This record gives sequence, C-alpha cells and structure tokens, in this order.
Amino acid sequence: MNDLTAPHLKADILRHLTFTLGKDAPHASRYDWRMALSFAIRDRIVEPWFASTRKTWDTGHKRVYYLSMEFLIGRLLEDATINLGLRDMAEQVMADLGQDFRALVEDEPDAALGNGGLGRLAACFMESMATLGCPAYGYGIRYEHGLFRQRFEAGRQVETPEDWLTQRHPWEFERPEAAYTIGFKGEVVTRDGREVWLPGETVLAEAHDTPVIGWAGKWANTLRLWAAKPTTLFDLARFNRGDYAAAAEPETLARTLSRVLYPDDTTYQGKELRLKQEFFLTSAALQDILRRHLAGGYKVADLAQHVAIQMNDTHPAIAGPELIRLLVDDHGMEFDAALETARACLGYTNHTLLPEALERWATYTFGSVLPRHMQIVERIDSWHRRTYHPPHYVGIVKHHEVRMGEMAFVMAHKVNGVSALHSDLVQQNLFPELNALHPGRIINQTNGVTPRRWLKMCNRPLSALITETVGSGWEDDLDRLKGLESHVGDAGFLDGFDAAKRANKQALSDWIAQECGVQVSPDALFDVQVKRIHEYKRQLLNILETIARYHDIKANPGADWVPRVKIFGGKAAPGYVVAKEIIHLINDVAAVVNADPEVGDRLKVVYPANYNVSLAERLIPASDLSEQISTAGKEASGTGNMKFMMNGAPTIGTLDGANVEILQEVGAENFFLFGLTADQVGPRRANPDHARDAILASQSLQDVLQMIAEGRFSPDEPGRYHQLVHRVWHHDYFLVASDFDSYRSAQARVDAAYADRAGWLKMAALNTARSGFFSSDRTIRGYMKDIWSVASAL
Ligand SMILES: *Cc1c(COP(=O)(O)O)cnc(C)c1O
Repeated sequence: MNDLTAPHLKADILRHLTFTLGKDAPHASRYDWRMALSFAIRDRIVEPWFASTRKTWDTGHKRVYYLSMEFLIGRLLEDATINLGLRDMAEQVMADLGQDFRALVEDEPDAALGNGGLGRLAACFMESMATLGCPAYGYGIRYEHGLFRQRFEAGRQVETPEDWLTQRHPWEFERPEAAYTIGFKGEVVTRDGREVWLPGETVLAEAHDTPVIGWAGKWANTLRLWAAKPTTLFDLARFNRGDYAAAAEPETLARTLSRVLYPDDTTYQGKELRLKQEFFLTSAALQDILRRHLAGGYKVADLAQHVAIQMNDTHPAIAGPELIRLLVDDHGMEFDAALETARACLGYTNHTLLPEALERWATYTFGSVLPRHMQIVERIDSWHRRTYHPPHYVGIVKHHEVRMGEMAFVMAHKVNGVSALHSDLVQQNLFPELNALHPGRIINQTNGVTPRRWLKMCNRPLSALITETVGSGWEDDLDRLKGLESHVGDAGFLDGFDAAKRANKQALSDWIAQECGVQVSPDALFDVQVKRIHEYKRQLLNILETIARYHDIKANPGADWVPRVKIFGGKAAPGYVVAKEIIHLINDVAAVVNADPEVGDRLKVVYPANYNVSLAERLIPASDLSEQISTAGKEASGTGNMKFMMNGAPTIGTLDGANVEILQEVGAENFFLFGLTADQVGPRRANPDHARDAILASQSLQDVLQMIAEGRFSPDEPGRYHQLVHRVWHHDYFLVASDFDSYRSAQARVDAAYADRAGWLKMAALNTARSGFFSSDRTIRGYMKDIWSVASAL
C-alpha cells in the first residue's frame, strides 16, 4: 500500500522543516515539527489524489458533489497517517527526532466548520466516499471562524471566537485561479426576449482544496471550500481623499460572507447574511460543476449522466433554481428541459422534523437578494401545480414565504431521511401531500460513521484486540466485527476487552483530574451524554435523574451503590436561553455533589467545556453507557449513538432515530430501553395535565424538583431555577416528567447489570460486535446505488 520507509519519512520531515518552515532542528518548536510532519504526510496523499483525479477524467466516470454548509472535520494529522498506514512509523520517526507524536497530534487545531451531527455526517461521508472509490467533491464554506469556543464562568456558558486559521493550515491548497463571481440583489431586465439578471453586488468565491484520503490510501477526493473575496479590492478614490475606512469597505463587506459559521443547529433564523452564504456556496459549486462538465467535452443536456448533486438539508436548496438559472440564462436551455435536467441531478437529504428548523424566507428578503431566482421559484411552483395538481395549500411559495423544504422536495429526484423511523415520519408527517403526489421519491438511508476515525484511530486498545481476534480487514468491512460474537463467552477475550476499556477510562480519569480538577475512579461506571444542548435531547432528564441519585445516596449512604461518573458535554446556541440554563444547572449540581464528602466515589458529575470532535474521540472510547434519551420522534437519527455502540458502550435510550435500529441489531437484552414511543407522545401531550400527573405520581421527581426550587444547588441565589422548575410543571413540551420514572428504572437496571462484571462485559462486547451496520461505508453504498446511480471507480 505504501512503500515508504522510516528513514525516507524522516528525511522528508527534515527537508520540510528546513525548506518549507525555514527552521533549524535545534530551534524548531512543536508547531514547526507538527507542520513538517503534516507536510511530509500530505506529500504522500498527493500522488493517490492525482491518480484518482486522472482516472476519473480518463474514464469519464460520474462524479458526486456533496453540498453542505457544514463540515465538522476535526483534526487531520493522525487520521491521514492511519489511512496511509503510516501511523506507527510516524510515531517512531518522531520519537527518533525527540518529539512526542501524541503531543504533535494534539497541537493541531480542531477544524469545527459545523455545529454538530449534520456537519460531522458530511465529514464521515467524505471519508467513506474516498474509501469506496466514489469520485466526489465536497463543497462548503471556508469559514474564518468555525463554531465558537465554550468556557464556563461560574457555571455559565461563555462563548469566545474560534480561530483555527490563525496558524497555517497545512492540509489545504489555495486555488486563486479557481474563482467565480457570485451576484446578489440588483434587477432583472428583458433583452431579446430573455431575462437578464444585473446583480447590484458581486463577490468572488475562491477555492481552497483539501485532499481527503480513504482507507489504505487507494483513492482520494477533494473537499473544496470557498472563501469570499472582493471583486474590487479597494476604493482608490476614497483612499486618496483620506477616507481609509471607507476605502476598505468593499473588502470588508465581501469577507463577511465567509467570516463566521451560524452557531445554531436547530432553529432557523431569517437573516439575510445566511441566505447570502447559502447562495454563495451553492452558486460557486454549481458554476464549478458546469465548468468541469463542459471541460470534459460533454453537452450541458447530458449533465445528469455525469453529475449527481446532493443537498445536505435545505441549506443549499437554492441549488434547484440556481441550476435552472445557469442552464437557461447562461447556456440557452429551455425552462422545462432545464428543470428536468436539474431534477435528474439533485438529491435532498432531510435532517429534521422540528418545525422551527425548517427554512422559510420572506418573499421580500428572497426577492430582493435573489430577484431572478424569485421568478424561477414561481415558475417551478406553477409548473408543479400544472403538472401534479397538488391541494391548494401545498406549494413552494405560501403566505409570502419561500419554503425551502418544499422547494428541495420538488426539485429532487430522491428525498431521503436519515433513519428508518425518521424516513417514515418524513413521509407521514412532514410531506404527506407531496409524498402522495410523488410516491417512491422519499427513501431511507440510515446514517453511519467512519470506523477509521471512530474506532481504529480513537480506540487503539480495542482496535488491537479486534485485529488480534478477527484479523485485519474489519476497517473497511465492518460486518467482520460479527466475528467477535463467538468470543464473548471466552474469558480471555473478555479480560482483553475489559483491559482495553480500563486503559481508556484510566487515561480519561487522568485527563479529567487535570482539566476539570475532579478525581474520578476508573472503577466507576462512566455514564456519558455528549451532544448539542437542546431541550429535545433532554439533558434535563439526565440531570434530574442525577439529582434523584444524589438524594437517594444521601438518604441511604450505606446501601450498595454502583459508583457512577456522570459526564456531560456540549454547547448551547448562544441565543438559546433555556439550553444555557440547563448547562448552568448541570454545573451547579456538579459543584454541590462533587464537594459532598458523604457521597465520595458513589457519584461524581463532570462537564468538560468545549465539546468538539477531538473531545468526542477522548470520551467515547472510555464510556460505559451511552445516553440517547431524546423525546421519541424528535431525533432524526443521531450518529453519536453509533460511535458509542462501536466502542462497546451499551445504550440507555428511547425508541428514537437510529436507536430503533441499534436496538434491532444489538438485541433488546443488550439495550436499556425506556420511555414513551413516538406514537404515544402525541396522545400524552394532548392531556393538558400530563406533567402535573406525572410529577404527582412520582415521589422521587417531587423531591428532585423541590431540591432545585429550594436552591440546594444555587445557595448563592436560591431563586435561580424557579423558572426552570415552573416549566417542568407547566410547559413540559418534551415530556421530561412523563418519562422520568421509566428512565429512572432503566438506570436501576443499568446498575444491576453493571454489578455483574462478566454479564456487563459480554453486553458491551456484543455492542461492538453488532455495530457493523453503522459504518458510513454502508450508508454511502446506499446513496451510490439508490440516489446517485454511481459505481466505484476502484
Ligand atoms: C458525532 C458528533 C455529534 C453528533 O452527536 P449526536 O449525539 O448524534 O447529536 C455532535 N458533535 C460532535 C463533535 C460529534 O462528534
């Protein structure tokens, strides 16, 4: 796979240190060494990258274009060495040079160009497409500032800007020659019977390419991120008049477009800048796609034979009208033919049923930012009405709003949900009328995660045990983990499994002691909930159960408690007041519980700040229990749940998203199920007293709410959580109270199961053994076959 020898790699690193970094080894800093190593590794990616690109051109192979406003990439150095088969060699060579490989890996900034699951899915898909030899480009925005950095001040979340680009980013290639003009606003005039858009503002989109190398270095694709540049750099007349700030205005305005990531993953905000960002990404991508298609010598009319375009949620849904505009206005195609061509190229992935997350633009905003597209949207809508006769209340433009979900649906030949349950709900609840008009268009592709990053890389002890037990080859054929099943009755294997988990837990304990100042015992059960903070994900349910546990320990400290460490992680959107209050409560509870000498190791609560991909890689391999406790029907799929399963952490969870399929794969005896089902949620909510009834039926929940209301966790401000307690009683939309007792008894089953060491280890090992289905390779094979009609080029 790679004939590189250690002396050769060492020479490459020293050459880059000298000639790329301009540093002499005795004076090189950690940063210099990391750069030198990264460049040496990148050199090894370039060859397969060129070979892949060349082969795609030579064979005229169909290409996939994945459009996403978010790519939650994380660090790349170790990932690249793993996929090139150079990890251990790199570690050895760096040791020879007096450098600690781990320290270099952790010196790399975590590229957080996304909020959470949706962006991380895009990153896993890029890696799987490369592994499978699916010729593909990812298109996104090169945000100068990714997701904010989170700190806690007296338990409250404080956001600071993130600046991953202040240091040189060694993985990308800037492409100043690949730039496109993107227009906004202005007017549409008619010339020779054709519509002509005269934009009032323009910016340049400049490409930055990062090669994405697949497993075993067999194929590499490109992640192309667009940076905004001014079309006119500078207003010289103003400068000469001495108005320096105004002179720099064009530049400032343009750069705003790729300055920051919108830091909210679940609520839609009708901000003009966001619409401009979406169009900026989409238009640049489509112009690039058409240029490449024509450069291949093909006709525009044949676009769909060579091009598949996937819209990751509605964020790039302007692709429908924009592709029509380019085909009609720039390439002279007739409207109906352009519409059919665009539809044959486009696929749309829906990620949410939450109504507050569905994008809708006021026709006023949409029409002023994109006047030509407004005309096209209206034509698409009337074409759809004429052709399919939907009921009067179904359409793209309704009540002075452009509805991006409907637009994406109408303009896509396939619409997919991201888990079996979610896809059913998309059919039945989200788009029932459109589904009836277009039967078969909505399909399912259950999400997955890449086992290279989320098992091989992040969990070396377990990976070594797997390879020892079933041989190598599981990395790109994850169903081979099934081979572990026949060993779960074998004491030697279970000891090995135990030792791997134990090593990860010990490392995490050390890290927690250092970072959070809390001593936690690696013998305790590590119970982990890490994900964005959102009411529907119900971190509140978890912290209420934590308080109940604390209450019971205090009441009966002599009982035979199974020691627990409750670990939380996650960021709240900066404007999401209720989510921030939950963060504050968790930190307040942690302070009280951790300082209580009567409690000791029976219960600890830790909340490391700034959850991101790198922290996930640290926490998940050390987890014993995976918290997936959303209100049923609200989590589209989840992918965190899959990472935990692969790493041998059983789930405590509701029947929601991909939990349903995890339960199916692993078996009910290896999953701690609780709570209302999606079907029961509606009827339960219809009872106006649902919360009150549940609270009055649960002495434990009453005690917990009483403790919070009395200020037991906020002695400096006893009234701090009055609002929160009031909401549980009177506005419990996510049914925390209704599921509380069921959750608590599931947690009691967890304690009992954990106390049986051999039984627990077997259950944990079976979670890993049966996680093969959740490889994103399986997901991508599904997209290739059912949506993109593209074969592997390997
Ligand atoms: C996997 C991942 C997510 C998604 O987690 P869910 O539990 O599916 O919401 C979010 N953030 C990071 C950093 C991740 O790695």
